[in-house]
Amino acid sequence: MVEQHGQGADGPITPRATAYAQWYQDIVAAAELLDQAPVRGCWIFRPNGYLIWEIFQRELDARFKRRGVQNVYFPLLIPQSYIAREAEHVEGFSPELAVVTHGGGEELEEPLVVRPTSETVIWATLRRWIRSHRDLPMLLNQWANVVRWEKRPRAFLRTTEFLWQEGHTAHATAQEARDFALTMLGVYEEFLQTVVGMAPIVGEKPAHERFPGAVATFTLEPMMQDGRALQAGTSHDLGANFAKAFDVTYQGEDGEAHPAYATSWGMTTRVIGGMLMVHGDDRGAIFPPAVAPVQVAIVPVSGRDAGATQAVDEAAATARRDLTAAGYRVALDDRPGLRPGAKFFHWERRGAPLRLEIGPRDLAAGQATAVTRHDGEKRPIPLSGLTGAVQALLAGLQADLAARARTIQESRTQTVDDRAALELAVAQGYALARWCEQYDCATAIQEATRATIRCFPLQDHDGSYHPAPTDPGPCAWCGAPAQRRAIVARAY
Ligand SMILES: [Zn+2]
Repeated sequence: MVEQHGQGADGPITPRATAYAQWYQDIVAAAELLDQAPVRGCWIFRPNGYLIWEIFQRELDARFKRRGVQNVYFPLLIPQSYIAREAEHVEGFSPELAVVTHGGGEELEEPLVVRPTSETVIWATLRRWIRSHRDLPMLLNQWANVVRWEKRPRAFLRTTEFLWQEGHTAHATAQEARDFALTMLGVYEEFLQTVVGMAPIVGEKPAHERFPGAVATFTLEPMMQDGRALQAGTSHDLGANFAKAFDVTYQGEDGEAHPAYATSWGMTTRVIGGMLMVHGDDRGAIFPPAVAPVQVAIVPVSGRDAGATQAVDEAAATARRDLTAAGYRVALDDRPGLRPGAKFFHWERRGAPLRLEIGPRDLAAGQATAVTRHDGEKRPIPLSGLTGAVQALLAGLQADLAARARTIQESRTQTVDDRAALELAVAQGYALARWCEQYDCATAIQEATRATIRCFPLQDHDGSYHPAPTDPGPCAWCGAPAQRRAIVARAY
């Protein structure tokens, strides 16, 4: 079933309470982020959608580089035999692979895989790049597209081709690799909190949910407004599995050959979909100021006579010039023949966090009327100190959105100890439940409730992540002995 697209940018928006999934599709359309592509499961990024990704890239790339990570680029096509080198890797990815069998009008001697991820080609190359302990750590990242065949596509959330970054690092010891995987988990958490306005649960995936070939997978799981989880990023400790599969060793200070230890970590365009689901409302998208394609929409409200209208237009143009010069993304909506109400509606749907209305009465008072998108509040701000006032409003709005996301997540997370309570909790949000760590039990939970084991939460203290203290007791689902609590939730 191909996903139904709404009626485009000006179609009605289904209320969240009526049909959350349809609401999501409607606000994606209303914000003009994507368009349909001819191939199912693929989408076209429109300018607003791609601008958001560019902002994500800029923010993340700066954070990576501060930690010494360098960007590289590896080819899209990978020999099929490479994927088979790491046993768990091939098993995990085979069902999702797109394979090229013909090129240049001929059948290829060896089929090529369109990369689903790049561990294999990168580790095949690191064999040449890593010789000595002096080559380590090697901290690489690439910005790329990948293809994982998606049977049930959804805009941003599940797409056959998606954009992402994939970090790949090599370290001298297992401990260094583990520490770096957690460092990047922290980078993602800070980015999601401060830029995207999310409140993710940070944790370790259970063994059956690990990345194929990893010894540990760490995850960030923000809650959407309907109580479901979205995996927003992952960081993997790959141990020496890829070094062994691709024969990557380095000569240590002891003169002996040692395997290199690996991490990989990725964040994708699906976070844009999560951001829409965390912040949007029944009137459309709401973008956090740090990410909004248009941060300030200026709407001049014409006066009764030509002189007043001209003064308003001039004040609006000045406001745009000053705010643009201060670095804000600004739109001046001076489209003629459109009532102010229609313009307000236009910018609300597109998620502009702040609207400035300037009319003759505002002008007479030396002010503009500022309207914050997330709460609809109106307040006068002086035109003389416009830039400072806008800065303060946007900073407050950014913090409000993040706080609202945290409140939703905390108010809908329940600690539960038995099956009935778990069923109730996952119908509304997250259950924090003792779980026996048996795969069959996870399957039984999923069949009965559609919820999955999202992660074992980690605690952040002393600038690092630590497992929560053990909390022995019976598994909330099957009663078998359990050592710790997991987040159990339905997920996108
Ligand atoms: Zn159990």
